[in-house]
Amino acid sequence: MPANKKLLILPGDGIGPEIMHEVRRVIDWMDRRRAVSFDLTEDLVGGAAIDASGTPISDRAMRRALEADAVLFGAVGGPKWSSFGFDLRPELAILRLRSELGLFANLRPAIVYDPLVEASTLKAEIVRGLDLMIVRESTGGIYFGSPRGIETLPDGTKRGINTEVYTTPEIERVARVAFELARQRQRKVCSVEKSNVMESGLLWRQTVQALRDAEYADIALSHMYADNCAMQLVRNPRQFDVIVTGNLFGDLLSDLASMLTGSLGMLPSATLGLPDASGRRHALYEPIHGSAPDIAGKGVANPLAQILSFAMLLRYSFAMEEDARLIERACVNVLSNGLRTPDIMAPGCAKVGTQVMGEAVVRELDKLAA
Ligand code: NAD
Repeated sequence: MPANKKLLILPGDGIGPEIMHEVRRVIDWMDRRRAVSFDLTEDLVGGAAIDASGTPISDRAMRRALEADAVLFGAVGGPKWSSFGFDLRPELAILRLRSELGLFANLRPAIVYDPLVEASTLKAEIVRGLDLMIVRESTGGIYFGSPRGIETLPDGTKRGINTEVYTTPEIERVARVAFELARQRQRKVCSVEKSNVMESGLLWRQTVQALRDAEYADIALSHMYADNCAMQLVRNPRQFDVIVTGNLFGDLLSDLASMLTGSLGMLPSATLGLPDASGRRHALYEPIHGSAPDIAGKGVANPLAQILSFAMLLRYSFAMEEDARLIERACVNVLSNGLRTPDIMAPGCAKVGTQVMGEAVVRELDKLAA
């Protein structure tokens, strides 16, 4: 039996615990059928942690995150805590995790599964078979650069300032993630910036190109301005394999790309840190959706984004590609069989709740592994 894999589970608020419950079924299944043993710890995060201990994430949970091989995160937030001050918001837990685990590369796949091709707002012929990955630098750039602030000028008018800053090591480490990912995919990377009007963009382009020439000659690298990339994502998204970009453009482009798939409840994500000498890296996996307070407790949330986040965890933290694919295939088969939670309901399909969906995934896993 392979060595235990340390996993911290942080279900969070709203639908977080409900959808995480369905992941636990999949983990139990792996324990039973794949002889993969996980050393699981669970803790509170977000509003639940504020209620229990007055802080969005306790030092104990933070220590557990640092000790874990991977963190599986649900979602945080909700109306109960929305009037709290900025120093006591559930979302601060995510910021603390990112900062203390050094998570700088946000991976957002946009995959259109065949049974859901009609869910996209784009025509089926444009999005069918889409499988792209956006790698967004998530700890630098204009959201963190200084100087920043709002100042009053001598004439009494005001000026708002934010600064886009990137250093070569920051660009190299995220580009490296993109190149390594591309090696497991179609070996194509498109680097996105605005080097026509921004010096930081020019440095970005030059640095990514130099790294490719020095270490990744097997990868086809192209460069694109961010405005063109937004247009191309809508015009012909299948031209892309891996897109790598900075924080601001990545924020916009990854949201745009996620909507190509048309279903929030289907989309996983990962955020990775820098590997240490042994290759071990901190990593956090979570669905892109939030805690969906409007449907929390009703048993109707779609658990697939959370289950697919677990598949990403297997792939990127434990190199368990075969198991990751098995889970992904099980999710697609459940959809092909016509089961749908209300968020992805389509004519002729059977509407089911969170639990039935989770059970159906496990049944498919049984069939696939038989
Ligand atoms: P949301 O993603 O929670 O919900 C948007 C809409 O999508 C809602 O109608 C919701 O019911 C639906 N939805 C989302 N996930 C679904 C699922 N798995 N199955 C079925 N339907 C689903 O975004 P919001 O409403 O803007 O935010 C709600 C709360 O979540 C806020 O407190 C926000 O701050 C928080 N939030 C947290 C995260 C996170 O934890 N990473 C991310 C985004 C928002």
